[in-house]
Amino acid sequence: MSLIVQKFGGTSVADPERIMNVAKRVGNTYDQGNDVVVILSAMAGVTDNLIGMAQAVAESPDSRELDVLLATGEQTTCALLALNLKSMNYPAQSLMGHQVELMTDHCFGNARILDIKADRVRELLDRRHIVVIAGFQGCDLDGNITTLGRGGSDTSAVAIAAAIKADVCEIFTDVDGIYTADPNICDKARKLDTISYDEMLNMASLGAKVLQIRSVGFAKKYKIPVHVRSSFSEEEGTMVVDENSGMERLAVSSVTHDHNQARITLKKVPDQPGIAAKIFSPIADAGIVVDMIIQNTRAGGETDLTFTVPKNDFQRALELQKKVAADTGAEEVFGDEKIAKISVIGVGMKDHSGVASTMFSTLACENINIMMISTSEIRISCVIEEKYTELAVRVLHTAFGLDKE
Ligand code: ASP
Ligand code: MG
Repeated sequence: MSLIVQKFGGTSVADPERIMNVAKRVGNTYDQGNDVVVILSAMAGVTDNLIGMAQAVAESPDSRELDVLLATGEQTTCALLALNLKSMNYPAQSLMGHQVELMTDHCFGNARILDIKADRVRELLDRRHIVVIAGFQGCDLDGNITTLGRGGSDTSAVAIAAAIKADVCEIFTDVDGIYTADPNICDKARKLDTISYDEMLNMASLGAKVLQIRSVGFAKKYKIPVHVRSSFSEEEGTMVVDENSGMERLAVSSVTHDHNQARITLKKVPDQPGIAAKIFSPIADAGIVVDMIIQNTRAGGETDLTFTVPKNDFQRALELQKKVAADTGAEEVFGDEKIAKISVIGVGMKDHSGVASTMFSTLACENINIMMISTSEIRISCVIEEKYTELAVRVLHTAFGLDKE
């Protein structure tokens, strides 16, 4: 018998009927002799509604009080599930973040977990209770309620699983697993049986829709197997595991796309020490995250430099560069928002050669121009024109043998 953490997302607890379905599922797992800890999100849409109400009463809501408010969404679902389980005579108890001593830093709205004591959880499990814990919330060292950022109950689940040394952390959601590509644009995408932590971390654009990426970092660090599966079916989903656990090591296991980047080019900047620092310091000071950077060499002591930033930060970054242009000596600064980043990801890349050349020639066959390239140990990314996104994902999916039969 195992110690199982089961996390249910907002759509799985969207109304009382669905909460009763969750209770049945949890009850079944318990009846099979397992110890069960349940982590819940707020009902779908509730967190957004709460934010809306806060904005209705305060122009820029105080972050401490906002967290007090947002934490109520998870409190509601936990109480309802525990009520329903108890009405079926299961020994269940709900616990809020502070009661499990999920300690965080002081960063309201996006707090980091520092430590989880979980003594009460262990005690209740020893007495064969089902423990129902509010996701997304914790408590700082001064006793204030904090929240872990949008989608944070995934991170609560994995972190609590690590703290109590659970055998597995099951994430029940509205999709049935992790796919080789976004099924909305690639109809031959198929569900993966297993994927490694690192592949999942690299799949941020695809994977982050399913799991808060921070939770994967926790899972990797504490080697917690995470099972992403549907709460609306009994089918197995995708196991996110350590790459050395005997999983199949595909050269490419997924193709992802990211529309969320824009690029900025500085033309003819002097090729001198200190220039890159002058360009990127104001960007960093503004809290803008740069993804890819390329620098070309030109004749005559000048260089062109191109980098990408999140689309949301594009205008700000462009303005900043126009301002520092005099300082950097750039002849021209311009940008382009109509780009997409296409990536192929796979742990098997470490021991397969030719992945990059297959990627480039596949794109070339479709006459898709590659504007930027970046690589890491298990990922190759190309920036292309946005209008070719779907085509690029499909042809790469086929070229790397990922299409379902
Ligand atoms: N309820 C929170 C949110 O909507 C946390 C979560 O669902 O994971 O972001
Ligand atoms: Mg979620």
